[in-house]
Amino acid sequence: MGEVAGEAIERESMEFDVVIVGAGPSGLSSAIRLRQLAEEKGREISVCVIEKGSEVGAHILSGAVLEPRALNELFPDWKERGAPLNTPVDSDQFLLLGKSGALRLPTPPQMNNHGNYIVSLGNVCRWLAEQAEAMGVEIFPGFAAAEVLYHEDGRVKGVATGDMGVGKDGEQTANYQPGFELHAKQTIFAEGCRGSLTKTLFEKFGLRDGVDPQTFGIGIKELWEVKPENHHPGRVVHTIGWPMDSGTYGGSFLYHLEDNQIAVGFVIGLDYDNPHLSPFDEFQRFKTHPKIRPTFEGGRRVAYGARAINEGGFQSVPKLTFPGGLLVGCTAGFLNVPKIKGSHTAMKSGMLAAEAVFDVVAGDSATADTAGYEAAIKSSWIWDELYRVRNIRPAFRWGLWCGLIYSAIDTYIFRGRAPWTFRHYADHTTLKKASEARRIDYPAPDGEVSFDKLSSVFISNTNHEENQPAHLTLRDDKVPISVNLAEYDAPEQRYCPAGVYEIIAEDDGSNPQLQINAQNCVHCKTCDIKDPSQNIDWVVPEGGGGPNYPNM
Ligand SMILES: Cc1cc2nc3c(=O)[nH]c(=O)nc-3n(C[C@H](O)[C@H](O)[C@H](O)COP(=O)(O)OP(=O)(O)OC[C@H]3O[C@@H](n4cnc5c(N)ncnc54)[C@H](O)[C@@H]3O)c2cc1C
Ligand code: SF4
Repeated sequence: MGEVAGEAIERESMEFDVVIVGAGPSGLSSAIRLRQLAEEKGREISVCVIEKGSEVGAHILSGAVLEPRALNELFPDWKERGAPLNTPVDSDQFLLLGKSGALRLPTPPQMNNHGNYIVSLGNVCRWLAEQAEAMGVEIFPGFAAAEVLYHEDGRVKGVATGDMGVGKDGEQTANYQPGFELHAKQTIFAEGCRGSLTKTLFEKFGLRDGVDPQTFGIGIKELWEVKPENHHPGRVVHTIGWPMDSGTYGGSFLYHLEDNQIAVGFVIGLDYDNPHLSPFDEFQRFKTHPKIRPTFEGGRRVAYGARAINEGGFQSVPKLTFPGGLLVGCTAGFLNVPKIKGSHTAMKSGMLAAEAVFDVVAGDSATADTAGYEAAIKSSWIWDELYRVRNIRPAFRWGLWCGLIYSAIDTYIFRGRAPWTFRHYADHTTLKKASEARRIDYPAPDGEVSFDKLSSVFISNTNHEENQPAHLTLRDDKVPISVNLAEYDAPEQRYCPAGVYEIIAEDDGSNPQLQINAQNCVHCKTCDIKDPSQNIDWVVPEGGGGPNYPNM
């Protein structure tokens, strides 16, 4: 049953054995593995995947260097099946940038990409979706799961997609269509980093009790077509240092794909403490460095986007199962931070979840649980991988130099098995007051290698139906001015990479108000994470809204 302006609406429902929320690498790998098992064991199992992007891949933004370990397990014949892994990595560079120079450092073992491929993760997902559909999986793009449904005994019953055609005022428009209910014996949540429904499950089932807070970074990325002489297919470059100060965790990636394309991006830890910092402007400034700029001069920027990335790792993995469902991929937080890779662990977790779910669903017991999934994760290579790097990210809390020295000791002397585990703290707690922090003057964009936010959002092809309730909801309308502006100079104006949040005021500066340009939102989830008052709740907009990334 849905509700619009107080009026109860009957929704149609559909029954499946398994419903999967999110068509990223984790959700699609779950779907494929379920169908593989069904074929192997001669059992019919209905599997449906829903995806909020207008098509599979439209909301996928990654680096990406893909470690093919999980893909080899899922489809040993992926080459024959035409998987879009066309550019093997042929060199790795790890650079420390100063203001005008660069020092090449030895590549840390976690960043050695021998045997990996430079890909568009969006295209890999499109290909995975084709494989899944050919195996009988039903995929519904353009439908956002807006609500978790529960049985009377508290078990998850499935999800409901959002109603379409509800106006800003909450009233039905002429295009109104109620959402669907998708009921399942098991629901797999594969929403990626900071899943909006997963957040409600954390609370409902206490899944985060006893584990560290999840921590995050914001990744901002552009895709460029560069001059052929600046392009070296297979080259991977990572930088640390400038323009970050040594107290802020961050660095860049440049991945040379096929067809003169380079994926360039910058990741900044969301535990930064200066409310004047603008991740977007740091990224733009990074591209003006004398060692970086020549790569892009004379080239063309073809796409832009941003997405949060998990950084908590081992210490922050929540309980993974609850009655009626489980969590896979980055919504659970399996990303390996020193590697900046989470696609392989996302896929593997999706496959392990499918195996646990298959046993329950095929066993015809709707109430049997999938606790075997947690045990399977803990005895898989995911757990070993995350355990060994668990202390590296938190060590950067003491600054770049201490972080680098500690990482070398942890990796080469303790080999990831130091008899201690560093803790994490929630990112929204770290901001200093604006008056206590250094102001940052960012250079104006030059329009050649650096750009402004609005022209950037334009090439993310972001589109939302304008007449709909805001999907960036405020718990308290007064907090943006009384707390965020007063104490932190409204940091949402700077950390949002899409210019969604603006403080507008009278000409004399009086009567400041927060204006939310929700139609620009690229669904990165940073505001949901970094708002110092935890006052912003990101919920799904109408299905199909958001960025339309081509091959990010
Ligand atoms: C800048 C950046 C660089 C990265 N570089 C690399 C790299 O080089 N190598 C690597 O391996 N990993 C990299 N990663 C991490 C990698 O992208 C993730 O680990 C991976 O995408 C996680 O897969 P997932 O399936 O869990 O989630 P996602 O890929 O985020 O997919 C989730 C899907 O679910 C959909 N969805 C979410 N909520 C809903 C809902 N309520 N209803 C319907 N649909 C929903 C989303 O639209 C999305 O399509 C990078 C990440 C970033 C941000
Ligand atoms: S509004 Fe929030 S989720 Fe949307 S782009 Fe801005 S920071 Fe990201």
